[in-house]
Amino acid sequence: MLFLDELPEFRKDALEVMRQPLEDGVVTITRVQGSFSYPCNIMLVASMNPCPCGYHGDRKHDCTCTPKKIQHYLSKISGPLLDRIDLHIEVPAVEYDDLDSRVKPESSASIKERVNRARQIQTERFRGSGIYSNSGLTPAMCEKYCVLSPEANSMLRAAFDSMGMSGRAYNRVLKVARTIADLGGSERIEAEHIAEAIQYRSLDRKFWA
Ligand SMILES: [Zn+2]
Repeated sequence: MLFLDELPEFRKDALEVMRQPLEDGVVTITRVQGSFSYPCNIMLVASMNPCPCGYHGDRKHDCTCTPKKIQHYLSKISGPLLDRIDLHIEVPAVEYDDLDSRVKPESSASIKERVNRARQIQTERFRGSGIYSNSGLTPAMCEKYCVLSPEANSMLRAAFDSMGMSGRAYNRVLKVARTIADLGGSERIEAEHIAEAIQYRSLDRKFWA
């Protein structure tokens, strides 16, 4: 796993150069002596603030950034790089109740069980196909494995049009929805799965809204 804290603080060219290895799971380094390829199938996790001061959208603090400053900050992450990140999740500031240990969230053990079941479904689905999980699906394979209900299909079409989604983001949504459906034990992708997958593209909405 590669964790990049404060993503917009990295040099833009350093971020852009990650696009190809993220896509192919292979990094190719070219030197005078020749060209070498190394495996780099990684899970990328990155974090960033909503704006330079960190308080944009916060209920208790005022953001002191101008819209232009926020735009400049967000623009350090390009659309094509975002397209290669499956899940964008906004994390609100911690509230008192979140720290109250009497409120019990779902246990890690039960989440693990659900994840293991979903992985098992994928192992069986892709046996002999050369891929191991939904993230490895090519656009052509999506057609076969990501079967949508009619409602899911029209929801995705509407989101594609209204969000100005790229073809790559569209495929991400499909694959994430496939995984959400697997977690719920559903063979077909339903509207609720698409709706949840679209929620995980919140940064696309910030850029193109
Ligand atoms: Zn701010």
